[in-house]
Amino acid sequence: MARIETLPVRVGDSLVIGAGHPVVVQTMCNTHTSDVDATVAQSLELAAAGAQLVRITVPGRQDVPHIAEIKRRLRAAGCNVPLVADIHFSSETAIEVAPVVEKVRINPGNFHPDHEQARAQFARFLAVCKEHGTAVRVGLNHGSLGRYITDRYGNTPHAMAMAAMEWLEMCIEADFLNVVVSLKASNTVVMVEAYRELARRMQERGVVFPMHLGVTEAGGGDSGRIKSCVGIAALLQEGIGDTIRVSLTEPPVNELPVAQYLAQYGAAERSLPDGRPGIIFRAAARKTNSGSAFPSAAQDAMLDAAILWGPKLLKREIDEIPADAGLSEYLRDEIMQAARRRFYRPEYIACPGCGRTMYDLQTTFEEVQRRTAHLKGMVIAVMGCIVNGPGEMADADWGYVGEGGGKVTIYHRSKPVLRHIPDSEAIDRLLELIEAESGATPRTATDL
Ligand code: SF4
Repeated sequence: MARIETLPVRVGDSLVIGAGHPVVVQTMCNTHTSDVDATVAQSLELAAAGAQLVRITVPGRQDVPHIAEIKRRLRAAGCNVPLVADIHFSSETAIEVAPVVEKVRINPGNFHPDHEQARAQFARFLAVCKEHGTAVRVGLNHGSLGRYITDRYGNTPHAMAMAAMEWLEMCIEADFLNVVVSLKASNTVVMVEAYRELARRMQERGVVFPMHLGVTEAGGGDSGRIKSCVGIAALLQEGIGDTIRVSLTEPPVNELPVAQYLAQYGAAERSLPDGRPGIIFRAAARKTNSGSAFPSAAQDAMLDAAILWGPKLLKREIDEIPADAGLSEYLRDEIMQAARRRFYRPEYIACPGCGRTMYDLQTTFEEVQRRTAHLKGMVIAVMGCIVNGPGEMADADWGYVGEGGGKVTIYHRSKPVLRHIPDSEAIDRLLELIEAESGATPRTATDL
């Protein structure tokens, strides 16, 4: 399958995304941006492990000097990895940080509460990016499209593609084309359909921006890896995708081997549109990634199985993984669930955490998984912050959202039902609520 031809997007002095360049691997810090020492240390660790872009959250204007200092220290240490500022809910912060970093990710769904104001602010933002040579990601997420779009199109893949096209059209009108676009969802079917429609619409428009792929809030462990591989590989097989982030509810360095595996897979499977050399065969490419973080052979086999069978299930080429495929029952179940063809356990939505996270997200998520494993088919979210978490878990039946300060809010179908619960009690309270609502038997920690 030939790669879809896209515009080149230049990020910093030496990195180009799209236009046939090898798929770029990126990740995001989960340190607090105001903790400059920790964020510098983590950025160095990520760059050394192969991250070609490092994203850092910038929650407000007060954090712009922090990211400027982080960049200064990285460059002084000889680390030139381009930095991406991640912006939610503050268009002024996006405008202020644009001269400081190589790239800014904005979420159109929360750029400004008023749609016309959002458009006006976006025009200002693009002018600053153009002046400073800063790249942009228009990063929409299924869970945070904004009322303006969902009132028109529902909360659908079509809505995601249409929303993206509106913002991309503004970039074209502003003659600013240094733009990458993403349409992430935690539901692999939604994610794949949205990117496909977007790719088709951009091709019809005659201006194709590079696409950043990711299954958002994929969770962690085997299931997070499998889900990411199923969704991302399905698109890579169709020639879609120029940069990848695998989101795991784990230390971000763990994301890189999976993303590298997928990027090499994409390169091996695809030829460039004009037939130029550029195909990297997996066996050769993997020699360049023999660091200690690279997956073991067993993990490779798991990723291979997800990459092979998941896209076939997603595309409905098959209904089951063949019995003679040589997979364990566990792996078959996980791939079937990642492709949303059969649910044998709860479906989890868990964000990877970032500088907004105010509690031990990974440990909490693992505990929630342990205590809710019997609730087959239920959708349970564990989110790192109260600012962005509730919007991003729109599909969840139940949500556990950290407020910070040791407190948690529990959501039921997008509505907060218990606020300010001490985190030591929050999982018990969540299970009591689930029992009361569904009749499910709660599990106490001692049952396990
Ligand atoms: Fe960060 Fe998670 Fe909040 Fe998203 S939901 S901003 S990843 S803490």
